[in-house]
Amino acid sequence: MSAENTTGYVWHELYMWHDQGPLASVSSYLQPVRHWEGPETKRRLHNLLSASGLLDELQMIKPRPATIEEVARVHDLSYLKRMKACSDDDSKGHHNLGHEANLAPGGYDIAMLAAGGALAALKAVMEASVRNAYVLVRPPGHHAERDRPMGFCFINNIAVVAAHAIQEYGLSRVAIVDWDVHHGNGTQHMFEEEDRVLFISIHQDRLYPHDTGHVSEKGKGSGEGFTINIPLPPGSGSGAYKAAFERVVIPALDAYEPELILVSCGFDAAYLDPLSHIMLSSEDFRFMMKEVKEVARRHSKGRLICLHEGGYSELYVPFCGLASIEELSGISTQVQDPCLSEVQSFGYHELQLHQNSAISQAEEVLHVLLERVEQKHITGSTTV
Ligand SMILES: [Zn+2]
Repeated sequence: MSAENTTGYVWHELYMWHDQGPLASVSSYLQPVRHWEGPETKRRLHNLLSASGLLDELQMIKPRPATIEEVARVHDLSYLKRMKACSDDDSKGHHNLGHEANLAPGGYDIAMLAAGGALAALKAVMEASVRNAYVLVRPPGHHAERDRPMGFCFINNIAVVAAHAIQEYGLSRVAIVDWDVHHGNGTQHMFEEEDRVLFISIHQDRLYPHDTGHVSEKGKGSGEGFTINIPLPPGSGSGAYKAAFERVVIPALDAYEPELILVSCGFDAAYLDPLSHIMLSSEDFRFMMKEVKEVARRHSKGRLICLHEGGYSELYVPFCGLASIEELSGISTQVQDPCLSEVQSFGYHELQLHQNSAISQAEEVLHVLLERVEQKHITGSTTV
């Protein structure tokens, strides 16, 4: 397989050393327990890639630390300085930065290496030394806001990549598809006034954050129509996700004709995940990856970068991740998903009426996007 057809892979042992500390502060009666956002799910995915032989077929991309200038395109400098000061202070263990984000000493450097790993993947994809890439980093990024960490996220890795693609590579149409089960609030807020970024989030309705990700949030000013939220009811399964992709996600991407597709790739919509109430299988993640890969082939010269976000089932994340990376690379392994028959035998996978209604509302936002794209074509704007 020639280099330009390979899938790049970003991994660094230090990503696994980021430490949120125990979940001990919630209640004095909570016996200390390992934090959800620990290294184990990601390490086990990496190990399954290795054990299955797929890792040998991927092209390793060496991460580098992001520079403060690269990260400051989407974050306030004052926040980055505060984070670095906490990271440099090893006098009191973990720093609770609020909003469910704890930073251990040295955490700033790991977060910068995560953002920089994603930028290394962007370079490889833009220079066509690989066709697409999977970036298996910690900490995750999509909840991080411009001025604060949030929900286990410190630096918004995918936003750093999108801003870099616009500033350094001159792209004017970058699509972000966020299928982590939680709403990508940080990413949305960073680009909601932009038409150079199309942000589409499919997530469990009001799971986290409770107050963002509504279908009514569709971008502002020149960004109106370029944010699409598809909040799905708890209990949604294959049918709801397939309908959302076929009726909203894919038509939106096809209309926008992105030059680059980025995916906030969480596996916490899986049925075994302890933090959500959606019931996807590894085959559903394979389906979503296949769909975005085909859009990338149609519009983006195949340029597609997946950044790992959430996913908290130690048992199941590896199988969902393997199926996704098999699809991304076009290489199959002999590994069978041991949970597949169980989850596929559940009832209510087919699209339910209330799920259909949620998707119909998102279709209305799709029409706003289609109108905006049409207007841009008529006025001859260079941005869309
Ligand atoms: Zn999540």
